[in-house]
Amino acid sequence: MIDISIIVPFYNESESIDGFFSAIMPILKRLKLSFEILCINDGSKDGTLEQLIRKKKQFPQLKIINFSRNFGKDAAITAGIDFAEGNCAIPIDCDLQDPPDLIADMVKKWREGFDMVLAKRSDRSEDSSLKRITAGMFYRVYNLLSDTELPENVGDFRLLDRRVIDAVKAFPERRRFMKGLFAFAGFKTTSIEYKRPERSKGTSKWSYWRLWGYAVDGITSFSIFPLKISIYLGMLVTFLAFSRGLWIFFRTVFCGVDVPGYASTTVALLLLGGIQLMSLGVIGEYIGGIYNESKKRPIYIVRDVI
Ligand code: UDP
Ligand code: MG
Repeated sequence: MIDISIIVPFYNESESIDGFFSAIMPILKRLKLSFEILCINDGSKDGTLEQLIRKKKQFPQLKIINFSRNFGKDAAITAGIDFAEGNCAIPIDCDLQDPPDLIADMVKKWREGFDMVLAKRSDRSEDSSLKRITAGMFYRVYNLLSDTELPENVGDFRLLDRRVIDAVKAFPERRRFMKGLFAFAGFKTTSIEYKRPERSKGTSKWSYWRLWGYAVDGITSFSIFPLKISIYLGMLVTFLAFSRGLWIFFRTVFCGVDVPGYASTTVALLLLGGIQLMSLGVIGEYIGGIYNESKKRPIYIVRDVI
C-alpha cells in the first residue's frame, strides 16, 4: 500500500523538470512514507516525455501517464486521481509555484484527521493587477451564484484523503472544473497559508482568453442562475416599457400629440436586442454543456503508461 500519490501535470515543461525533481525528492524522502509520483504528460511537444523517462531511471517511484494529445490541466489531474494508489494524493504544479515544502505540513494536518488540506495563497502580490481584479471578480460572482462555497485564492495544490479521491472519481461529468468538484465533495477541510512564488522556468500556459473560458465553464458547471437572469431582466424591461407606455398615453391625452424622437426608439430597440442576444448566448452556453456531456467522450486518452 502506498501512502502518498503526487500528481504532476506536465505540458511543455522541459525547462522545469530538473528543478522540480531536485526540489521535491529530498522532501518526499524525508517524510519516511512510501510514495509514487504520477507524471501526466499532457501532450507536450518539447521533449518533456523523454526527460521524464530519463528521470524514471533515476527515481523508480515515477509513473508516467502519457496522453495522446493535450487535454488540459483538469483532465491531467483527473487522470492522476484515477491512477492514484495512495492513501492520499497531492496534485502539484511542476513550475515550483506550488512550494513542495508545504507537503510536510499538509501530511501533518492529514494525520491530525483532516480529509482535505488546502494550500491558500496569503495574497496575490506576484500577479498583475488585471489578474488580481479579474480573479477577485470571478470568486465573487461564483460564490454569489453557486450553492457550494469556493474558497478564494486556492488552486489545485492540496492534499486529498482517499475518501475524497474516491468521491471525486465517482463524478461522471466530463467538464472537470476540479476546484469546484473538490468544493462540492465537502469533507473535513482545513487550509495552510503560503506565499506563491513566481514561476521558476518557462511561461504560464494560461492566456486571458483561456482563463475567461475556464471561468465561464466553472460558473455554468455549478450554477444555473445565469439561465434565469433573462426572466428577471424581462420582467424589469416589461415593467419599464409598461410605465413608459402609460406615461405617453396620459401625456398625449392631456398635452396633445408630440413629434416622437427616433433616438429613444433606436435606444430601446438596441437595448432589447442586446439583452435578447445575451440571453440566447447564456442558453447556448448551457446547451453546449449538455451537448458535450451527452457525447460521453472520454475526458482524456492515454497513449501509454510507462
Ligand atoms: N498544464 C497542463 N496542461 C495544460 C496547461 C498546463 O498539464 O494544458 C500544467 C503545467 O505544465 C503546469 C501546471 O499545469 O504544471 C500549471 O500551469 P501554469 O504554470 O502554466 O499555470 P499558472 O501557474 O500560470 O496558473
Ligand atoms: Mg504556474
